[in-house]
Amino acid sequence: MTLTGEMLIGATAVRGTEDTFQAINPATGETLAPTFHGGNAADVDRACQLAEAAFDTYRATTPEQRARFLESIAEGIEALGDELVQRAHAETALPIARLQGERGRTAGQLRLFARVVRDGRWQDATLDSALPERTPPRPDLRMQNIPVGPVAVFGASNFPLAFSVAGGDTASALAAGCPVVVKAHPAHPGTSELVGRVIQKAVADNGLPEGVFSIVMGAGIAIGTALVAHPVIQAVGFTGSRTGGMALVKVANERPQPIPVYAEMSSINPVYLLPEALAARGEAIARDLVESLVMGVGQFCTNPGLLLAIEGPALDAFRAAAVAAVSAKAAGTMLTPGIHQAFERGVAQLSAVEGLTRPGCGLAGTGPNQARPAFFETTAERFIADHRMHAEVFGPSTVLVTCRDVDTLLAVTRILEGQLTATVQADAGDQAVAARLLPALERKVGRVLFNGYPTGVEVSFAMVHGGPFPATSDTRTTSVGASAIDRFLRPVCYQNVPAALLPAAVQDGNPLNLWRLKDGELGRA
Ligand code: NAP
Repeated sequence: MTLTGEMLIGATAVRGTEDTFQAINPATGETLAPTFHGGNAADVDRACQLAEAAFDTYRATTPEQRARFLESIAEGIEALGDELVQRAHAETALPIARLQGERGRTAGQLRLFARVVRDGRWQDATLDSALPERTPPRPDLRMQNIPVGPVAVFGASNFPLAFSVAGGDTASALAAGCPVVVKAHPAHPGTSELVGRVIQKAVADNGLPEGVFSIVMGAGIAIGTALVAHPVIQAVGFTGSRTGGMALVKVANERPQPIPVYAEMSSINPVYLLPEALAARGEAIARDLVESLVMGVGQFCTNPGLLLAIEGPALDAFRAAAVAAVSAKAAGTMLTPGIHQAFERGVAQLSAVEGLTRPGCGLAGTGPNQARPAFFETTAERFIADHRMHAEVFGPSTVLVTCRDVDTLLAVTRILEGQLTATVQADAGDQAVAARLLPALERKVGRVLFNGYPTGVEVSFAMVHGGPFPATSDTRTTSVGASAIDRFLRPVCYQNVPAALLPAAVQDGNPLNLWRLKDGELGRA
């Protein structure tokens, strides 16, 4: 496929008239053809008006039609073959094998949502029979979820496939029945165009209205701001910086009609190294933890940026092994010059903190935009007192916080900000400590995991990739897994609506064969 550098607005390709920009190969610093042409508020308006025009037709599609549409996007992405992986590699410097895995995850995610749509539980069909004899009489009440309306999705820089144009936000919004307008991430515009054209073709092949999907582009905040501010947009999905996410929350809240922004922003993902586990397998944990730290050059939302442990000989052995492992790690190329600069700034700021040492530092880089893994250490008292250590340094950087005892470990936990994950390394003898820790962690995170590492997020029914602020801007939801669809739905109650007018999900006789809650009992009757 020849890249044209155009936006995809409905069925047409549109050359923007604003600033031009090009992708940069972060490994070489070279710019990549073609030149992309940024759009403006008029382009956003056209995409949004088409989305609005498509909404009623799209939301009326059957679950089977919507599922087939999602599956045909997955098939189209797979059919792009090597071209997609090569372009994403050139634009992000992420290794080929990682991108092949991410492509599989992206297709798998689309197929998961096809299954979710067919299954129908997302509709949450609920019926309360009329009770005419009761005083006062109860009316006939029926409830189902419907899609919220057109959704804006911001592609994430760190997952150019799985959290970008056809990523989890887009898949869950399309599954819900919402048209999507994507703001492509300027770090991988070619990858975005390739995937965008697949979705554009899938829209046409499935006989859907063109406004079901559009991509707008532009380097700079104007186009994203115009998109969130557009009156047609009813919800926003975002993965990126805390600054960017909060700026969009502000725009959304200041609209005449405020809308929800589901922003996944920053998390340092504490890892608890409990004493028995450290004593039994501290060196293995150190080795595996450092692998998790440097995976993808630390550019995962779930990167382990904070380690907590109780002082003692087992911790000394762990520290020695972790420092040795970090010191042997090569520098890695980051996604963009901006992300690399932010990492260097973050490491410099941490290095200037009094009472924070850096016993471990990876090998120096040899090319542009390379980050050296960094391993810092401090005490619980200093960590509690200095909030500079609580901020995410996006990249391969972690801080070990040493605690005197279990109470101190819990005290540190209580002052942490919201997190996507908490990991507990615990053996049988640690169970009593873990039992005290777990309720504290439930209050802080979206996912608690034992004896594993936080990087690597399963896309499944029970997954939660969310958590209290600043991990996300809405603590009640997840951006990964089947429940992500809930963000783009809202309930409607039908009171005494004539049978002939009722939507299929709540009609007598259950024509869609859904699991429904009828008079408080779950069933299919
Ligand atoms: P970003 O700067 O937040 O940008 C993400 C997207 O939002 C881009 O399309 C960007 O547009 C847009 N945007 C940002 N600020 C905006 C604003 N005020 N108004 C409207 N649109 C706005 O994230 P990034 O470029 O991916 O990386 C920068 C930093 O984000 C990293 O160093 C890291 O700290 C953090 N990050 C965190 C995660 C995570 O999962 N925790 C993931 C990725 C990045 P333009 O680029 O066109 O301005």
